[in-house]
Amino acid sequence: MVYFLELKLSYFCYNINFKTMSIFNTFNPSSTQSGASISGEAEKVKCLIVGSGPAGYTAAIYAARANISPVMYEGLQPGGQLTTTTEVENFPGYPQGITGPEMMEDLKKQAQRFSTDVRFGIATSVDLSKRPFKVVIDDNKLIEAQSLIIATGATAKYLGLDSEEKFKGSGVSACATCDGFFYKGQDVAVVGGGDTACEEALYLAGLCKKVYLIVRKNFLRASKVMQDRVMNAPNVEVLFEHVTHEIVGDMSGVNGVIVKKNNGETRTLAITGFFVAIGHQPNTDIFKNFIELDEVGYIKTIGKSSKTNIEGVFACGDVQDSTYRQAITAAGSGCMAAIDAERFLGEFGEV
Ligand code: NDP
Repeated sequence: MVYFLELKLSYFCYNINFKTMSIFNTFNPSSTQSGASISGEAEKVKCLIVGSGPAGYTAAIYAARANISPVMYEGLQPGGQLTTTTEVENFPGYPQGITGPEMMEDLKKQAQRFSTDVRFGIATSVDLSKRPFKVVIDDNKLIEAQSLIIATGATAKYLGLDSEEKFKGSGVSACATCDGFFYKGQDVAVVGGGDTACEEALYLAGLCKKVYLIVRKNFLRASKVMQDRVMNAPNVEVLFEHVTHEIVGDMSGVNGVIVKKNNGETRTLAITGFFVAIGHQPNTDIFKNFIELDEVGYIKTIGKSSKTNIEGVFACGDVQDSTYRQAITAAGSGCMAAIDAERFLGEFGEV
């Protein structure tokens, strides 16, 4: 078990460097921009799933049961964003709740039960100009896929403070819907001035005694209706022109945040929960030369399907959803992607 964890950790660290080196690679069939060469013959697969998390694993379960032999590369953070949360209480079917990592382990086991080939690895470059789609894994292995499901998720942006990192999972969160309940009746703070921050502040206002909204400018960037709701919520105090200096706490978690006004004044707010809501970054860099993205970088899907602008390439989960971003909606869209992929392959007699 210890060996396994170490292996996973070293793989993870190795790939962070790897990824930063190669994330902007343009595709070259025999070598990569970082100088590494692609070894061996291309492996041919019917259905390649890139990225894990609820979307990827659900796509894998459905694809495997539809007999399209999915191969999944789990990506930089096997299990996705939920592996960084503690309790998940809003996923149907778990009346007592479940931890994020446990739930992801269960989803993975379920995908493997139907023979999904789940592998460690990161897609480092792609050529989606024609089928079979070429996907390079870890800069050194070439896959040729008849269909591709992108489930690479989105990454919540954080402020980058050491204290924020220290208290992640014990007072610092990037998801009020996931973690707000644990702060019922308590005082909390939200940082950000966009629609997400306002939404999170209002959601928390319904649960918590007091919510501070820390906004770095002297205005909210959120839509007018959200601004009005926030400004009229009796237990939300908006602190304009404030930045977060440090999150403070002890072994039991967060107990305050030091904020600094633009005139240099500092103040400590006594809070137990600190919610970061300064935006998400969809993980779409390697696809951007081929797949149509919106202005923020989310993959555009067509109508009510998981189809992208390229036939045979499907997207599911947070990588294509800037609105709901929930485990259950990601899982639902993973199911859609697998069904779309199966039907697509069926049209070519490739099932
Ligand atoms: P946005 O990019 O709209 O807003 C990010 C906010 O965080 C801004 O106020 C920004 O400040 C602030 N911020 C960024 N970096 C920092 C930092 N380092 N320190 C302090 N503050 C920081 O992101 P959202 O996630 O709010 O929204 C993304 C998109 O999704 C938007 O188009 C939004 O309208 C949409 N959305 C729609 C919803 C709905 O319709 N119900 C719900 C949620 C989102 P500054 O203004 O100074 O740059």
